[in-house]
Amino acid sequence: CGIVGYLGQKNTKEILLEGLKELEYRGYDSAGIAVLQNGNFSNYKAVGKLVNLKEKTKDFKTEGFALGIGHTRWATHGKPTELNAHPHLGESSYVVHNGIIENYVELKKELQANGARFLSQTDTEVIVHQFEKNQKSAKNSFEAFAKTVSELQGAYAILLVTKNEPDRIFFAKYGSPMLIGINKENEKYFASSDTPLIGHCQSVNYFEDGDYGYATSKEIAVFNKDGAKKELKFSALSQNK
Ligand code: GLU
Repeated sequence: CGIVGYLGQKNTKEILLEGLKELEYRGYDSAGIAVLQNGNFSNYKAVGKLVNLKEKTKDFKTEGFALGIGHTRWATHGKPTELNAHPHLGESSYVVHNGIIENYVELKKELQANGARFLSQTDTEVIVHQFEKNQKSAKNSFEAFAKTVSELQGAYAILLVTKNEPDRIFFAKYGSPMLIGINKENEKYFASSDTPLIGHCQSVNYFEDGDYGYATSKEIAVFNKDGAKKELKFSALSQNK
C-alpha cells in the first residue's frame, strides 16, 4: 500500500525504514526492503508492524552508494504472510508494487510453463519474472522493463532493481500514486506520497498515469505510454508535515 525508493550515498537502510514509517497511515499488514550495494542484494521482510522489520534489519548496515526499495503491503492477492510480502525476487531482480495486476493469472501460467519458479501467491510476482523473461531477448534492461510495463493490465506503482544495471531504479505508474524527489546532492527519492521526502528533497515531480522510466544519480528518464520521452515537472516541496 506504500512504496519508497532511494538512490544515493546516505544511509539507504535508515532512509527506507523512515520513509515507510511516514507511509504507515496508509495501512498495511506486512513490510519489506531490498538493497543493492556492491553488486549484492540484501532483502528483509516481516509480517505486522514496522518494528518487526526494524528488528530483523538491526544488524544490517548500508554504507556508501546503495539502491533501495521498500514496501508496506495491503494484501489483495495472497494472504498477509512473510513470503507474500514485497519485495519479490526473480533470478537477479527485485520488485515492489502497489495496486493490482489484473492479467496476472494468464501471465503466470505462461511463465510457469516456461520454467519460472513462483514463491508467492501475489499478483505482483509476475512482474519480476516477466521482466527477466524479457531481459533475455531485449538489448538492455530498460527495453525489457518497457516491454514488461506494456504487457501489464491493472493499476500499479512499481519500482524494480536488477543486478545487471546496478546504478538505476526502474519505475512505472498507472492508477496508483508515485512521485520522485530530488536535491542538490544528486540523491533520488521515490514514494507514494510526499511525506517521506520532507526534509530530504527540495523539489518533487508527481508521475502521471502511463509514465515509466529509470533514475540514476545523474539522470531521470521518463517516457509516456506511447514510448515518447517527456519532461518532468518539478515543483517546490513544502517542508511542513
Ligand atoms: N496486489 C499486491 C499484493 O497483494 C500489492 C498490494 C498493495 O498495494 O500493497 O501483494
